[in-house]
Amino acid sequence: MTDRSFLDWPFFDERHRTLAAELEDWAARELAAVDHGDPDAACRDLVARLGRDGWLRHAAVDPEAPEAGLDVRTLCLIRETLARHDGLADFAFAMQGLGSGAISFFGTVEQRAWLARTRAGTAIAAFALTEPRSGSDVANIEATATPDGGDYVLSGEKTWISNGGIADFYVVFARTGEAPGAKGLSAFLLPADTRGLEVAERLEVIAPHPLARLRFDNLRLPASARIGAPGEGFKIAMSVLDVFRPTVGAAALGFARRALDAALARAGERELFGAPLAELQLVQGQLAEMALDVDAAALLVYRAAWAKDSGAARITREAAMAKLFATESAQAVIDKAVQIHGGDGVRAGHPVERLYREIRALRIYEGASEVQKVIIARQALSGAGAGAGAVKGA
Ligand SMILES: Cc1cc2nc3c(=O)[nH]c(=O)nc-3n(C[C@H](O)[C@H](O)[C@H](O)COP(=O)(O)OP(=O)(O)OC[C@H]3O[C@@H](n4cnc5c(N)ncnc54)[C@H](O)[C@@H]3O)c2cc1C
Repeated sequence: MTDRSFLDWPFFDERHRTLAAELEDWAARELAAVDHGDPDAACRDLVARLGRDGWLRHAAVDPEAPEAGLDVRTLCLIRETLARHDGLADFAFAMQGLGSGAISFFGTVEQRAWLARTRAGTAIAAFALTEPRSGSDVANIEATATPDGGDYVLSGEKTWISNGGIADFYVVFARTGEAPGAKGLSAFLLPADTRGLEVAERLEVIAPHPLARLRFDNLRLPASARIGAPGEGFKIAMSVLDVFRPTVGAAALGFARRALDAALARAGERELFGAPLAELQLVQGQLAEMALDVDAAALLVYRAAWAKDSGAARITREAAMAKLFATESAQAVIDKAVQIHGGDGVRAGHPVERLYREIRALRIYEGASEVQKVIIARQALSGAGAGAGAVKGA
């Protein structure tokens, strides 16, 4: 039985507890046997069901009332719960949010029309920042968007793009050249049926999900496709990541909780040396460390989410701490769960074996762990305030 006592923490309101209970029921019903055999088909189906039953309304702002923004605690609770039940369901939900985040926060009325569809699960979103020579080093983006008449001409490549190949639109970041480095980038809304967009390669990873390398060959976009002002692309990307980074931590937390539950069950059932495994003190030590990591990760994740919801303009430090600690500790928790399961833990298809593969990429994407450490150190060195101190009006 999953420990859900964290829902009593003061970070949450009653509506969060209600939502968590409703989603728990939904996930137990809908995600008991997701077929991962064809990740594209599985994701399309999951997006459709998450949209049909209203969960995707939480992933993007209401186009009619964008000023209400997003509730980051809700995003985190949904990701944690979905990840605990099914990694691909979490992925499908998360990408609808990350992929449409720039439109949610910076889009025009016309651009926000897409949000009605992402929220209903009838359009799939993607976020295209990374390039073959620009991953952690975002300021080094080489794809160009050159003004030409009233249009922009987009050339270059993006890689590691989640939902690449199945998305209905991509939010693409490209160099428009207002200044060198980070200050010369802009964001664009690129419908997937635009001429000149090629899905150059589909990429396979250890925990399969739709992923592709994209190529833009002198692709023409109207100026109305630009999101935000020219040169604001880096700021837009970082603002979106600020909101979604704690949610990566929440997904990791969901994986970790599942692993802890599995380990507790196994340690209780498995007889070794004439007694349950759970009676061995070295095993108890592992279980204690796992429970501690889970609670510490939850505190950091929901602290970051609460700070954003309480009015903090940016939660750079809190988001980086939440993502770093939750993903790194989830890897450790899952590894211990595998160990406690013995041979079964590495058996293909076993839940902890799947978690072992699913957690790995979370320590790399949306800023690798080392990047989070750099962010935290810079914030500490600059004397940026801690937690509640960074919250306006809290
Ligand atoms: C499964 C998956 C899904 C993804 N989805 C998307 C997506 O939807 N959209 C998108 O735009 N991108 C996506 N990415 C790309 C992801 O954001 C990049 O992989 C990530 O930013 C790292 O970039 P890189 O792979 O080029 O590695 P590099 O930038 O080459 O970094 C390699 C390693 O160097 C280390 N490192 C980096 N910076 C520092 C530093 N300052 N100090 C010390 N060490 C450092 C880290 O360990 C890092 O892992 C995805 C990646 C994966 C694996």
